[in-house]
Order: sequence, then C-alpha cells, then structure tokens
Amino acid sequence: MKYDVTVIGSGPGGYVAAIRCAQLGLKTAIIEKYSVLGGTCLNVGCIPSKALLDSSEHYHNAAHTFKEHGIDLENLQVNLEQMINRKSGVIKSNNDGIAYLMKKNKIDVYNGLGSFVNKNTIKITGQDGAEQQIETDKTIIATGSKPVNLPFLPIDKNRIITSTEALTLKEVPKHMIVIGGGVIGLELGSVYARLGAKVSVVEYTDALIPTMDRALGKELQRVLKKTLGFQFFFGHKVTGAQVEGDVVKVTAETPKGETITMEGDYCLVSVGRKPYTEGLGLENAGVQLAERGMIAVDDHLQTNVPGIYAIGDVVRGAMLAHKAEEEGVLVAEQIVGQKPHINYNLIPGVVYTWPEVAGVGLNEEQLKEQGRAYKSGSFPFKASGRAKASMDTDGFVKVLADAQTDEILGVHMIGPRAADMIAEAVVAMEFRASAEDIARMSHAHPTYTEAMKEACLAATENRALHI
Ligand code: FAD
Repeated sequence: MKYDVTVIGSGPGGYVAAIRCAQLGLKTAIIEKYSVLGGTCLNVGCIPSKALLDSSEHYHNAAHTFKEHGIDLENLQVNLEQMINRKSGVIKSNNDGIAYLMKKNKIDVYNGLGSFVNKNTIKITGQDGAEQQIETDKTIIATGSKPVNLPFLPIDKNRIITSTEALTLKEVPKHMIVIGGGVIGLELGSVYARLGAKVSVVEYTDALIPTMDRALGKELQRVLKKTLGFQFFFGHKVTGAQVEGDVVKVTAETPKGETITMEGDYCLVSVGRKPYTEGLGLENAGVQLAERGMIAVDDHLQTNVPGIYAIGDVVRGAMLAHKAEEEGVLVAEQIVGQKPHINYNLIPGVVYTWPEVAGVGLNEEQLKEQGRAYKSGSFPFKASGRAKASMDTDGFVKVLADAQTDEILGVHMIGPRAADMIAEAVVAMEFRASAEDIARMSHAHPTYTEAMKEACLAATENRALHI
C-alpha cells in the first residue's frame, strides 16, 4: 500500500493528526502497537485518571459533605472493583469512538510496531510477529512518552508502581507513599486519599507543582492537608525503596542530610515522563534526537529529515494531550500548504485535584524574572456566592496584567471547576483582552466564573465588588 501520510502512534497527537490529514484529502494510515487506539491519554492517562477522580470525589463528598447538605446515608462503602470496572468501561467506549472516527474518515489502521525501513518505507510488526510494509510520502511520529524510572527505585509493578498500575489497584492502600509532587502524583494520590488511604508525598524541590505559579502550589498544599490529610516531605531526596512482603520501605535524605525511612504498603513513583522512541528504527531514516531522548524538530515540527514530522510528548514542550492535538492539526495543515500557528504561551496547564488548579500565560515568577511591570488582582472563592452554595470556598483566581496596557499576561486559578474556567482566560488572552475588557463583561450570576471577572476588577484599580 502507498499513503500520502502515515502516522505512527494513536494517542491524542496521532489520531487527531490522522483525522485532520484525512479531512484535507490525504490518503492516511495510522499504526498503533497496542490492539486499542487512544494512546497513553485514553488508556492509562487523562481519561482513566479522571474517571477515578470523579468516582472517588463522589465517595468523598458522600462521606464528608452530604450530611451538611441534609442527606443522610448509612453503610457507605467503597466498591473499588466496580470503580475500576466503570473506569474500564469509560476507556472502552472511547476506544470504540476513536475506531469509529478512523473508519468514518477512511483512515487505514494497522496494529503493530511501526519502524522505519527507510525514509519512505515503514514496517509493521504485529504482536504475532507477522510483518508487512507500507510506502509513505510523509510520516508523522506521535509515539508519546513513558514513565521515568530511577535506577535506585526498581518498579516491581506490584508494590512499587507507576501511574499505570495505580489505575488498576485491587485494594485501597493503607499508606501510599507518592514520590514526586507533580500533577500525576497529586491526582492519583487524591484518588486514594479520598477512598481512605493515608498519603505521603515526598518531593525533591520545596514546592508542589513547581512549574505553575507558586501561589497555586501553596494553596493546593494547604487544602490537600486540610481536607485529605496529605503529608508532605519537601526538600527530601529519595535514595531507595525496598519491598519486604506487603511493606515498601522508602529511604530519603532530609534537607538536613539525615536519612529517614518511611513505610507504606504502596509506593507510587511519579517523577516525570520521558519521550518514547524505542523500536522506531529512527536511524534507518536518519532522524536525529535532541537532548533527553526527544526527537529534534524545527518550528514547523519537521525533523531533520524533510517529510518526517514529530508531535506530542515525543518532542519538546509540555507533555499534555491538548498540546499534542494542536500539533497534530498543525502538521496536517502544513502538509497541504496551509500556514497554521500554535501559541504555546496559551496552552493551559491543569491539575484535576479538588479544588482544581489551572493556569495559562506567564506566572508571577516569570514576570519578575523578565523584569516586566505588571499588576495583579485576586479574588477568593470564599467571597463567591456560588462557591458558598456548593461549599467549595477554597482557592482563588489571580489575574496578572501589563502595568501600562492592562493586557492580561497570565491567569492562575485554584478552585471549583478551574479546569473548565481556564478556557475563558485562554480566549481572552488569544484576543489580547485587557483586564478591563473582562471586568466589563457580564458573567452569569451565580457562577464560579464571576471570580474571574472580580479578579479582573481587582487588577484594574483594585475595584472588585464583592470583597
Ligand atoms: P501518547 O498518548 O503517549 O500515544 C503514543 C502512542 O504511540 C501509544 O499508544 C503507543 O503505544 C504508540 N506507539 C509508540 N511507539 C510505537 C511504534 N513504534 N509503533 C506503533 N505505535 C507506537 N494530559 C492532559 O492534557 N490532561 C490530563 O489530564 C492528563 N492526565 C494524565 C494522567 C496520567 C496518569 C498520565 C500518565 C498522563 C496524563 N496526561 C494528561 C498526559 C497525556 O497523556 C500525554 O500528554 C498525551 O497522551 C500525549 O499524547 P501523544 O499523542 O504524544 O502520545
């Protein structure tokens, strides 16, 4: 077979790239080494983690806030097996959805490991070892990433686990030691803390989610401790972990240089992810890597080999599904001669804890580093009527705007439904709105989004109305 475009990898980058290529009239193939489509995001990432976050949040609310709402429940119990089964059902329905989209767009799907024979020939090796080759004019590499393994933390997938195993546990841990205070560790730690586990987070730096605005991590730390009893060990360098029966012993060096040992029944290692290119045969096509195993690409996401592109987690930038999707669309449109553009400054970052955390644009630390004159306006959810009604009064919205022009430079929020609310900030910033613009727009009452309007009012002459 001969294709205009072959996409290797069916995650959000790959399958979206394939759809856009097909929409633009290109004969398209997609290769996926697993038997199901959707990649990390759908099978062991975004979607299953959100399914478990939703289920565990329902349980936690039923156990802790329903009474105050006037709902009395008796014999409340966690059925973890059902929770995990529901999550699997959500994945399956999305797997089917993507398979349907491939069919609808007449994209040929090949299941097997894709590897370059040369620049224009790709071999597909099925799980049964059967091989076939296809010819392609252009190729989009979208092979994603996998968890970073630390040599002194041997993952046994039983007691010392990655996010993948944490999505299919058979019991609620008694004490889960989470290594890494980033997004994945805090989300999955929240799932099990809500279901009753004690959760201890060991973090090498001095803050949670350190790449986001510092104020967000601080507030998240306070709330997770208050509502879920999280324990945090900052500035601790993990030096090893050992399994003894059902016990995991984690050793760490404290900021004072002392060695401590923590005992739990599960240790979740969530210290980041690295680009995945194993078995791709990049050398056969002459594709070069950049630092830390990433595929090197130019501003158009083209590799050093003309006609071979790479997108998503396997290239530089935030490892996020929506970033991968935008890149998939961009490459497809470029292939047919269009001139698309991605504003990487406006890719929002989200943490699906409760309260949710979200940010877009420059944070306060970056603005200070750049020496840029800015104004800041904040509004706390404790002053929001909507948040009081739902008892979600933790958190705030912070708007940063240029001191002279009032253009919004960054929005950082922690609070109810922040993951959805950040979209307003993205739209505002894409259209280069000033804080005054947003402050003068009507926001439905009562909604959480009023906090965004109020923060904009606060950023412009400190004139928030409800605080
Ligand atoms: P992937 O989704 O990793 O897909 C790559 C695919 O390529 C895989 O299916 C792989 O099997 C296949 N492949 C690899 N090599 C070959 C080969 N040689 N031949 C054929 N197929 C191959 N991001 C968010 O934006 N929001 C979230 O809420 C979120 N939550 C997450 C939660 C967890 C627990 C994890 C682990 C990640 C989460 N992420 C989230 C990150 C998100 O999953 C990734 O950024 C996203 O999946 C990257 O998409 P991708 O298309 O680049 O690669």
